[in-house]
Amino acid sequence: MDTDSERTGKGPSPLFPLFSALLAGGLLLCAVPARAWVQATTKETPHRPLHVAESDCSQYTVAAACSADVPVADCVVAVTLGMRAWDLRGSYFRFQPTPDLTCCRAGYERDWTNTNCIVWQEDRWPGEYGADTIALTTLTYDPATGAILDADIEVNGVGYRFGTDCSPELMDIQNMIAHEAGHMLGLDHTDVSGATMRVYSGPGDCSLRDLAPDDIEGATTLYPYAGDPGRCLPPHGGLNADCSDSPPDPGSCGCRVPGAGGAAGALPLLVAGLAVRAMRGRHRARHR
Ligand SMILES: [Zn+2]
Repeated sequence: MDTDSERTGKGPSPLFPLFSALLAGGLLLCAVPARAWVQATTKETPHRPLHVAESDCSQYTVAAACSADVPVADCVVAVTLGMRAWDLRGSYFRFQPTPDLTCCRAGYERDWTNTNCIVWQEDRWPGEYGADTIALTTLTYDPATGAILDADIEVNGVGYRFGTDCSPELMDIQNMIAHEAGHMLGLDHTDVSGATMRVYSGPGDCSLRDLAPDDIEGATTLYPYAGDPGRCLPPHGGLNADCSDSPPDPGSCGCRVPGAGGAAGALPLLVAGLAVRAMRGRHRARHR
């Protein structure tokens, strides 16, 4: 099972902390020429654009505890509002919550059921994620088509405190989720100032909550209202509604999961890792 084509991995953050929002904003306005929204692509050549295929929704699940810093109900509301940032009149795409579940786990099971999970990591934030990382979205895709098979958001509850009211010392949950949800759509980072899909954020920043025209153009181009496929598909292999683990050997128990087993060669994507590295370089230069 552990072949290159099935390996799941994680990597650098798509959302990088901003230590000086005003300074960075000014520098970006002056020094970085605006370019349009960016669609993420497969790492393999030919680089195929990543997208949600054949479904007008993406079903997501919030892990039961949500953030340890916020009452669960408030946290879930903030997550919901962040996802709804992408409810656009010109787009058919909608994020759909699965509120009855009590668990979800980041990762992709090729031969089992799945969840698109939003989970706070409160006990351990792996070193390979980067200590500065606020949140990380991992997409698993089919390299032959660019179709997204699974999308998980992990949030750094070890390194940061979260809130829901734009308090200056807290990371705003709605703000952060709005950005990560854009990755779930297949959007990569943009250099456009003020866009939700820009790479920087930080404590007290709520400016990503509302999409900029650049973000809207991206989402409505990828998922135009007139192109609605007319159906909302569950996660690949079906929704893992009972928090079950995949069997050690799926073939040994005679219990194949309906709809599972496709997507041979699916690979993970570390969203916008290159952009993060580039921005880290600039960050160091600013703070010499
Ligand atoms: Zn990002």
